[in-house]
Amino acid sequence: MDCPKCKITCPPDTVRCDCGHIFKSNAVAYNNPHYKKPVESTSPQEVTVKGIDMPFWNMVGFMVKWTLAAIPAMIIISVIYFIIAAVVTGGLTGLISLIEK
Ligand SMILES: [Zn+2]
Repeated sequence: MDCPKCKITCPPDTVRCDCGHIFKSNAVAYNNPHYKKPVESTSPQEVTVKGIDMPFWNMVGFMVKWTLAAIPAMIIISVIYFIIAAVVTGGLTGLISLIEK
């Protein structure tokens, strides 16, 4: 079944296309109380990200937040790196001084 709005091919039982187009024939079937709905599984639904459809300015806001969040993250990482480097170099200097004695 091809969507008349965005021209992509949807499965025949699709009620609503990804673009928001509602297939009238399936929507009627869905609203019919005698229509047997597909059995919904109780297991957690798997979410497959096919692509992020985000308005441009939402994306900009998201990227700004992301960049701001990266600043404290970098500080934390550099502090951890500094501690590790201090321990490693301190340990090596200790070993070298032991060998040289
Ligand atoms: Zn569509």
